[in-house]
Amino acid sequence: MRKKILMLFLTIILVLILFLFFVRLTSPREIDDISPEIPCLEKYIEKSDVLWVIPKLSNKAISEDKIWCNYILSLNKTLGLHGVYHEFEEFNIGRDQEYFQEAINIFEECFGFKPEMFKPPQLEITEDNRKLIKENNMELKAKFNQLTHKVYHCDDSGLFPNWVINLF
Ligand SMILES: [Zn+2]
Repeated sequence: MRKKILMLFLTIILVLILFLFFVRLTSPREIDDISPEIPCLEKYIEKSDVLWVIPKLSNKAISEDKIWCNYILSLNKTLGLHGVYHEFEEFNIGRDQEYFQEAINIFEECFGFKPEMFKPPQLEITEDNRKLIKENNMELKAKFNQLTHKVYHCDDSGLFPNWVINLF
């Protein structure tokens, strides 16, 4: 009897892993930490459908770098907002509209349209900040999204290196 339960358990786990594998295979690929301040391998940018942009890394607004803005636009990818300064767990502490608005403004100045999606740095976000994102009519992408998509990192700083993400 015990053996049967164990087999059933293992089968369920295997089915879930296979399911996840195929979901990740068919869902759009993403890349995190897009910024003029972070060198990024072109092959991973090219493979990605969604680019997650940091608007003010190292206190430098991306909108000041028009050549970079135009380069990113020319790639014709879906662009999302990824933090403001991208500090560690930046949205895991209370943030107000003023703080968030700066990111929206910089993004819009750079690309000519408002961001429609938001991914918090390190995927951590408080309940209040979730509401803030919603109030700004933006879609929140966090841990579940990261699990169901292949997500590369420009500096290869993700939980798994880019070449592993590429495989699974
Ligand atoms: Zn990030």
